[in-house]
Amino acid sequence: MDGCEVTTSFWISGGGLAGLATCIALQNICGIRANILEAKSQLEGDAGTLIALWPNGLRALQAIDQSLYQDILQTGCKIRQVRSIRETGETRVPDNCESKYGQPFICIRWSTLHSLLAKRVSHSQIYLQHTTTQVYDKENHVIVETKRTHSTQDMDRDDTKEAFVGKALIVADGVRSLLRKYILNDDERQLIDPIYTGRVIARAVLNSDELKELSIPLPQNECIFFFSSDGKKVGSLSSLEQGQFYWALTLEIPTMDSSYLEKQSLQQESEFSIPLMQAIAATPAERIQIRPLLEMPPLPRYAKGNVVLIGDAAHAVIPSLGQGANIAFEDALVLSRCIKNEDNLEKAFSCYEERRLRRCQLIQEESSKAGKRARQPKPSSSWDSQVFESYQKFLEYLLDFDPDKISL
Ligand SMILES: Cc1cc2nc3c(=O)[nH]c(=O)nc-3n(C[C@H](O)[C@H](O)[C@H](O)COP(=O)(O)OP(=O)(O)OC[C@H]3O[C@@H](n4cnc5c(N)ncnc54)[C@H](O)[C@@H]3O)c2cc1C
Repeated sequence: MDGCEVTTSFWISGGGLAGLATCIALQNICGIRANILEAKSQLEGDAGTLIALWPNGLRALQAIDQSLYQDILQTGCKIRQVRSIRETGETRVPDNCESKYGQPFICIRWSTLHSLLAKRVSHSQIYLQHTTTQVYDKENHVIVETKRTHSTQDMDRDDTKEAFVGKALIVADGVRSLLRKYILNDDERQLIDPIYTGRVIARAVLNSDELKELSIPLPQNECIFFFSSDGKKVGSLSSLEQGQFYWALTLEIPTMDSSYLEKQSLQQESEFSIPLMQAIAATPAERIQIRPLLEMPPLPRYAKGNVVLIGDAAHAVIPSLGQGANIAFEDALVLSRCIKNEDNLEKAFSCYEERRLRRCQLIQEESSKAGKRARQPKPSSSWDSQVFESYQKFLEYLLDFDPDKISL
C-alpha cells in the first residue's frame, strides 16, 4: 500500500445525490461527520438533465435539512400541469401533489440540485479523485481501499493506492457500482449487473432565448409528454428554474452503443413531435447528452456487516416514474434515523434494510412496468387517464412516504 491510513467514523463511497444527502443527514440527525470518497476530480451533477422531485423525496429532504428544502422550493420550478400529446389527442392532468400530499411537484436541473447539496458539506470532508476499489470488513471496522484517478477517463489507470479506516462504509457509487458485489453471496453475484433496457435517452437543457421557434407556447410550470403513434418513442419538454427548459427523447436502439446518433438523426427521430424537433434543432450539438437506460434486478439485501448500500448502488430504476433520486433521499433519512437509534452498527444497518428493501423492490418493479406501458401503442386519448387511474393506489403508497411514520 502506497498511501497512509486516514481514520474517520464513516466513509461514503460516491459524492452523487445519494452520498451527499447521506453525509448531510448523518451530520444533522446523528451529529456524525462522515467523509466522502469521490472518483471524479470535482463534485458535479449532470448539467443536461432534469430531476423531478416528488412529495416523498421532498419530505425526506425536509426532514434531513429544512434550509436545503427551502432552497430547493425557492430555486426549482413548481409544476402545475402534466400534458400528454398523441396523434389521437391531448390529455391534461393538473398536478394535485400539493393539495393531496402537502408537497409540490418540483422540476430542477440535476446540477443545481447537486450544488445545493454539495454546499452543505465541507471541502475537508471530500476526497476527490479517489475511486473506491475494495472494502475489507473487519469485526469492528472497515478498511476501504482506493486508487487515485486523474479524471473519469482514467478510472482504470492503476495509480497510487490508499487505505482508509472507519467504523463503516456507505456505498453510494451509483448504478455501475464496483462495491455492490461485496454484500452479495457468490451465487448471487451474477444477478447484479445492470441490464440494458434497449432504450437510450437523449436530452439537454436550453435557455428561453435559445428556444425562439416553438410551434406551441413555451411550457410554463408544465411538463409535456409526446408519444409516437407506435409508442416506441417518447419525448418530453418541461419548464425548469430561471426560465430554462429541458427536453428529452427516449428511443429504442438494439445495442447500448449510441455513438452513431447525431443531432441530425435525433431531429429525424423526433419527427412525430414538431415542438420536440424544434427544441432539438435549437440545441448546440455538444450540449446534447445521450445515455443508455439501465435497470437493475432487485437485490436480496442492502447490508452486510459494516457495509451498506444506498441510492442507485442499491436500487437503480429507469426514470419512467422519476423516482431514483427521490428514493435515494428516503434512504439517506431512514439510514441516519436507524444509526441514531441503535448503538450497534450491524443492527442499525439491518433496521435500515428492513425498512427499505420491500419498498424499493416494489418501486423498481413499478418503474420497469411504467416504462414498458409508456411504449404500448395507445388505443385512445383517454388511455393516459385510464392508466393513471389504474395505478392510483401505488402512487398513493409511493408519494405518501412520511418520515414521522418510520417505526424504529
Ligand atoms: C436521464 C435521467 C433522468 C432522471 N430523472 C430523474 C428524476 O426525474 N427524478 C429522480 O428522482 N431521479 C431521476 N433520475 C435518477 C437519478 O439521477 C439517480 O437515481 C440518482 O442520481 C442516484 O444518485 P446516486 O448518488 O445513487 O448515484 P450517482 O448520481 O450515479 O452518483 C454516484 C457517484 O459516485 C461516484 N463514483 C462512481 N464509482 C465510484 C467509485 N468506485 N469510487 C468513488 N466514487 C465513485 C460517481 O462519480 C458519482 O459522483 C434520472 C436519471 C437519468 C439518467
